[in-house]
Amino acid sequence: MNALAATSRNFKKAAKLLGLDTKLEKSLLIPFREIKVECTIPKDDGTLASFVGFRVQHDNARGPMKGGIRYHPEVDPDEVNALAQLMTWKTAVANIPYGGAKGGIGCAPGELSVSELERLTRVFTQKIHDLIGVHIDVPAPDMGTNPQTMAWILDEYSKFHGYSPAVVTGKPIDLGGSLGRDAATGRGVLFATQALLEEYGKSISDQQFVIQGFGNVGSWAAKLINEFGGKVIAVSDASGAVKNLKGLDIDKLIRHALENRGIKGFSGGEAFDPKSLLTEDCDVLIPAALGGVINRENANDIRAKFIIEAANHPTDPEADEILSKKGVIILPDIFANSGGVTVSYFEWVQNIQGFMWDEEKVNSELKTYMTNGFKYVKEMCKSHSCDLRMGAFTLGLNRVARATVLRGWEA
Ligand code: GLU
Repeated sequence: MNALAATSRNFKKAAKLLGLDTKLEKSLLIPFREIKVECTIPKDDGTLASFVGFRVQHDNARGPMKGGIRYHPEVDPDEVNALAQLMTWKTAVANIPYGGAKGGIGCAPGELSVSELERLTRVFTQKIHDLIGVHIDVPAPDMGTNPQTMAWILDEYSKFHGYSPAVVTGKPIDLGGSLGRDAATGRGVLFATQALLEEYGKSISDQQFVIQGFGNVGSWAAKLINEFGGKVIAVSDASGAVKNLKGLDIDKLIRHALENRGIKGFSGGEAFDPKSLLTEDCDVLIPAALGGVINRENANDIRAKFIIEAANHPTDPEADEILSKKGVIILPDIFANSGGVTVSYFEWVQNIQGFMWDEEKVNSELKTYMTNGFKYVKEMCKSHSCDLRMGAFTLGLNRVARATVLRGWEA
């Protein structure tokens, strides 16, 4: 099932549980604005290359729209649309004053030089600068983009509108980025996992973890879980997969991945086929890469007891049903990976205040938001007798619906 169909199916299920007015339901599903732009740049060899860039602004009832910009060959309008919608529910679940958006450029960033990436980012910013802004829509990093990408967007945007650090988050610290933002999604995954395991009388230190993806989110989650005594027994990324039943040395694996552009060839474990990673025997499975990876093809073979969705929409609704019958507990993306956008919010607040927080404050505020988020999701599960995904969806939808009604419909 494609990402948009899957997200809309979850949305409709939650709307039904809430007994949402059908007109309101329809208006919440349709994006506020969809932008598609052509971005042509000269390549280093003098030839021209054209790319298509997207920004979908889904909803702004609760505040400026917020979400990452993804550089990936599979970026397509449906996927960006689904991810933008997920951001609306995610920021509402996190209870931060934002709506949702997402952007992307269909490109293979690994095949472009740094100067080509800079030119592409600047051209994309020139095309959308009038439609983003500190109180309109605030981009951030996502798959294939990083703090340097945000620095270029900030610089290009500032040529048109004056210096405005709060127009993007996930910036380098020297340009007003927040301490703790780099680790935030992974740290949020840690806090979310702690809250879930506690509910079942378990803790990080008595569990075995398998992680798919070793980019920003997967590597930080692995590092922090390891620091809290959790045993990470298998990891995969685009280059390969490695396992060690005694527990992988995560610091060494991070160093290896940085030096070799991937985990392939790591000597501290046994290499295996990444295709079988998701069905490895473990307690907690953390998909932290692409969407749709857990589907009806492999759901029956999953052996983990808990799935923490560090990626966006890693589980197809069909797999959801199979896993629920098997008794697997899934902590959904719109809560589990909300640590990144939550610290983006702290960054934006610091930029607007012109005051920098220390890292301890960032991390402890994040813990409070994640712990409260889990409590509210659980309350919705109780009131609607539903699983954690529907608990999170009903929580998010209800908050957005209330804001929409309060703002009114008068033209
Ligand atoms: N790209 C991240 C996400 O999917 C972070 C978005 C943000 O910080 O605005 O949640």
